[in-house]
Formats: sequence, structure tokens, C-alpha cells
Amino acid sequence: KLYNLVQDLKGNIRVYCRVRPFLPGEPTALSTVEHIDEGTITIRVPSKYGKEGHKPFMFNKVFGPSATQEEVFSDMQPLVRSVLDGYNVCIFAYGQTGSGKTFTMTGPKEMTEESLGVNYRALADLFLLSNQRKDTTSYQISIRNNSQNGINVPEASLMPVSSTDDVIQLMDLGQMNRAVSSTAMNDRSSRSHSCVTVHVQGRDLTSGTIIHGSMHLVDLAGSERVDKSEVTGDRLKEAQHINKSLSALGDVISSLSQKTSHVPYRNSKLTQLLQDSLGGSAKTLMFVHISPEADTLGEAISTLKFAERVG
Ligand code: ADP
Ligand code: MG
Repeated sequence: KLYNLVQDLKGNIRVYCRVRPFLPGEPTALSTVEHIDEGTITIRVPSKYGKEGHKPFMFNKVFGPSATQEEVFSDMQPLVRSVLDGYNVCIFAYGQTGSGKTFTMTGPKEMTEESLGVNYRALADLFLLSNQRKDTTSYQISIRNNSQNGINVPEASLMPVSSTDDVIQLMDLGQMNRAVSSTAMNDRSSRSHSCVTVHVQGRDLTSGTIIHGSMHLVDLAGSERVDKSEVTGDRLKEAQHINKSLSALGDVISSLSQKTSHVPYRNSKLTQLLQDSLGGSAKTLMFVHISPEADTLGEAISTLKFAERVG
């Protein structure tokens, strides 16, 4: 249980930043990102965005373009494992469309073993560890996949799973990812939050004590601002709704990290539904994603400011 102790010392809310590499065809001449080290990312700010210069943003950890899926997962493995000890964990992927949220949580379109994302690795690791502990604890693991329907729709059913094959089938990783990877800036799949929820029940075989843990793996809707002059009607309402839920999430995490007495859970459906998994002894990890291309600098800066507020 040492890792849980270490985790507790680090605090319950952590914010990681991940910068994706340039994709084929993207102009690499000018990058938004000036410098990356362990916990700081420095952005090149042209005069258009205020005072010209270099602005550093601090995180618990920054993953640069060459970070592998395995490296990213191994850093958060203790957090994932704490679910088997009865903790509630929320992992969020935040960022504009195209910045790499789905890559982190699920993986790329053409999936290989190395490129599997957090969702898959987390489940595989929980099976591995629960199997190692099977002489002392019996675990039941179930998942609910709300990718199509938004967050925690009541009728979405909880399915027991016992192997990573079950999980692949249930999450329909390939299918889910095809839908998401075809995302253009304004595509539907970027306009909703998708969530995989893992429930764990463990029974200590000697004492009979029962513990419950849960983990929400949330690929959030794209955080990009929508130009009011370009969209109208339902599209505008939808965009405003998404922006509202993302900023409500920011407000909740920010007030939790500042330990204010009132936490504004009730300001959005997203935060209401995740209320039991945010705050108290629950652990939260927010991944903020940054694209390297210069023409997304405005979005990168607003993403980093969001992260600064919640961290
Ligand atoms: P989002 O879900 O935020 O809209 P995606 O995860 O779909 O963004 O990423 C956009 C594109 O960039 C995809 O083609 C994806 O495979 C690629 N990509 C994202 N992050 C990485 C990464 N770390 N390494 C390699 N390719 C990446
Ligand atoms: Mg996506």
C-alpha cells in the first residue's frame, strides 16, 4: 500500500499536460511550444495575445511529443491501482478537438499493442492486480460504457467483466475509435463527453470486509470556443451547453484544490453526476492536451489557463 501513501502525499488532484507531436502534413516551422521539462511547459506568445514573450505554465507533470502511451500510463498506474483499495478515481482528458484526448484515453485509429490508451491499460492492470491478490481478496469488476449516450445515462447497464477481451468487446474499442478519429473540428463526436465507468467490489476473504471503488474515464467534449457569428440555433445552444459544463467542471476542481467550503457541483449535469467521485477522498487526474501547431495557439493558451485554474 506504499503507493497509496505516496499518492496521498501528492494530494488528491493532479493536472498533467500532454503535447502531441506534429502530424504528417502539419507545418512544423513554428511551434506553439517553446520548451518542455518535467513539470513546466513554456509557450511562445506573440504580441497578438498580449505581451509578447515566453510564458511558462506549471503542472504536476508534462509529457512531450515523444512520450509513449506506456510512459504516460506508468505514471498514473498507482492512481488506477488505488481503485482496488476502495478509492474513487476520476480521470479526465481535456483539450480542443484534435489535440489528442482520444489518443490518450483510447488510442489512435490504427491500434497496436503499444498504442493502446489509458482505458484499455487501466482495465488490463486492474485484472492483473486483482488476480495477484486473489488468495486474499475476491474482486468483481464491472464496466459501463456511455460513449454514445453522454455521461452516466441511467439506463446504460453495468456489465461484469473478467478479462481484457471482455473489455475490448464491451468498449468496442475499434468501433468507438473509428467514430472519434474521423473527427473534423465540428464533427458530432467532439461535441459530447464520453465516459467509461469501472466499478469494483472487493471482499476480503479472511475478514469478509467489503470495499467499493470506482473509476470514471472521461474523454471530454472539445474545449474550443465556437464563433457565435458562425453557428446558430441548436448548434449554438449545444456549444454553449458544452462550454458551460466544462467551465462548471473547472470551477468544481478549482474549488476542491483550494479546499473552499462550498463546492459548486450543482451548476452542470456533468458535475452533478460525478459529484460522488470528485472531492472527499476521491482522486482526480486531469490531462490537458495541447496541439503544437502555431495556428492553434489561441486555444492552447486558453487550455493552459483552464489548467492553471484547476491545478
Ligand atoms: P481529440 O480526441 O482531442 O480530438 P485525437 O486523439 O483524435 O484528438 O488526435 C488527433 C490526431 O492526432 C489523431 O490522428 C491522433 O491519432 C493523433 N495523435 C494525438 N496524440 C498523439 C500522440 N501523442 N502521438 C501520435 N499521434 C497522436
Ligand atoms: Mg476525440
